[in-house]
Amino acid sequence: MKTATVIIVGGGPAGATCARELARHGTDVLILDKAEFPRTKLCAGWITPRVLADLELAPADYPHRLLTYRRIVFYIKGVPVPVPTHQYSIRRFEFDDFLLKRAGVPVDRHRVKKIRRAGSKYIIDDAYQCTYLVGAGGTHCPVYKSLFSEIHPRDPGRCIATAEKEFAWQWQDPQCRLWFFDRGLPGYAWYVPKQNGYLNVGIGGKLSSLKKRGETINTHWRRFAGKLARKGLTETRGLAPKGHIYYLRGRSDAVCRENAFILGDAAGLATRDMGEGIGPAIESARLAARAIITGNPYSAQSVTQWSTPQILAGRFTTRKS
Ligand SMILES: Cc1cc2nc3c(=O)[nH]c(=O)nc-3n(C[C@H](O)[C@H](O)[C@H](O)COP(=O)(O)OP(=O)(O)OC[C@H]3O[C@@H](n4cnc5c(N)ncnc54)[C@H](O)[C@@H]3O)c2cc1C
Repeated sequence: MKTATVIIVGGGPAGATCARELARHGTDVLILDKAEFPRTKLCAGWITPRVLADLELAPADYPHRLLTYRRIVFYIKGVPVPVPTHQYSIRRFEFDDFLLKRAGVPVDRHRVKKIRRAGSKYIIDDAYQCTYLVGAGGTHCPVYKSLFSEIHPRDPGRCIATAEKEFAWQWQDPQCRLWFFDRGLPGYAWYVPKQNGYLNVGIGGKLSSLKKRGETINTHWRRFAGKLARKGLTETRGLAPKGHIYYLRGRSDAVCRENAFILGDAAGLATRDMGEGIGPAIESARLAARAIITGNPYSAQSVTQWSTPQILAGRFTTRKS
């Protein structure tokens, strides 16, 4: 049986950040991820300056695509509201692989299925054992399912259904655009250009509201794709999107149980207004790592809950990239 002091399930931004913090402190860490990196992660790839600050990463030191937005155009029921700000876009395919390699810890490709407690240890699939277990496996994290689903039940009212497409596209319009509540969508749609000819377009909305109206996210995708094509922003007509669900921040702060911890999407920490999850994943990862190192309690209470203040504050940021 393979043994490590800390095993982290999931090597996304939450898992990679937690691993890096622990490894820097000399802790013996192993990451298990079902995917071979670089891997595709459905995500628009918008990040705030705080994300880079928390990662201690200067924009100039990031070796892949990083596009800076000096403003975001919000459309509220069709009315454009340009908001000066300072935000970035990355491609998750590149960003997550970069963070995982930068963590500098061993990674085993392994799909975690069964977790059990044996004395002071956690046993994973009868193949791995550890003293501390970190669940950073996203929405369907097996650590959440095995150890936290009863003490941290997810609120179906905060479940977000999404559909998106990222593809190589020589966009002409470099602005980030967000359409809120367009044609009854209980959420928003986005157009997020990436540096050097990539584009991400997608929509997200509250699953419970869609169900109440007898709609699916695909109903809205078809309308959105038509709109983009009419505006000459893309030719998404005919392009099939992919879907994923995740949870916005709920009320529960049950993110630690004995020596087990949940972070990022496993703990349902995406912001309540914009569904921003990368920042909260990284913030919670740093807090959990600190708790393991110091033995102090881990709580996600201080993790960012709203994105809008950060977007508005971004207009005063003078950072250049
Ligand atoms: C369509 C869409 C658009 C989004 N856009 C944005 C955005 O623009 N900005 C933003 O900040 N947030 C956005 N989010 C949210 C953001 O993507 C997530 O909050 C973020 O990825 C959470 O990071 P994480 O590390 O917790 O989980 P993940 O990034 O999901 O990583 C989890 C890892 O766990 C692994 N894993 C899962 N199950 C197992 C298993 N059984 N065994 C082993 N490994 C496993 C997976 O392979 C994966 O690598 C978006 C989400 C969606 C769905």
